[in-house]
Amino acid sequence: MKQPGNRRYHWPPAGFVKLFIPEMSKVKYSILKYGRPELRKKARRVGTVTPEIRKLAEEMLRAMRAANGLGLAAQQIGRTENMCVIDIPPGAEEARGGNADALPEMPLILINPEIVHEEGVQVGQEGCLSFPEIYVNVRRAERVRVRHMDLQGTERETEGTGLLARAIQHELDHLRGVLLCDRMTLAQKVSVAGRLKRLRRESALDDGSARIR
Ligand SMILES: [Zn+2]
Repeated sequence: MKQPGNRRYHWPPAGFVKLFIPEMSKVKYSILKYGRPELRKKARRVGTVTPEIRKLAEEMLRAMRAANGLGLAAQQIGRTENMCVIDIPPGAEEARGGNADALPEMPLILINPEIVHEEGVQVGQEGCLSFPEIYVNVRRAERVRVRHMDLQGTERETEGTGLLARAIQHELDHLRGVLLCDRMTLAQKVSVAGRLKRLRRESALDDGSARIR
């Protein structure tokens, strides 16, 4: 997921990061955009947390941070493991009037996540790294509790409200092949139809060779 309409998190641009910050230049995966069929694949359950899964979590965090995102699901880098990463900076939660102290330790690595409880309603702007420049108001639960495995392979439950709850619901959508455009009303779809079409065209031209840098 992307920070809704807050330009602070769009700086520096990804190109600048790649050129001038050596740590960020190690990013192995680029992020697939709307139109790529991999985004529609349903995730496969992770049996055990192997060193490869830990490595994948690291790569996902790198790709997400290089793109200034708040969350990333495996499908967005062309993988099918049932896992996503989320990193909500305290400033982002405070900016929307939320309580940053209530945030669990970040980043969150959610393996085989499943929402076990949800309550309340929030409507707010949502963006997605696979839908650049598109932000739409999406209705989500205000609070969710998610059961998942962590990087040690331990089953646990994590609770989130506000922006974190939104990010959890957005990334869990990805893991089922559900995308931001599926959450849009007809009017919203019409208003971004041109941009969606351009993304589909660009994705059709991308043969996948650029995916792994
Ligand atoms: Zn997304």
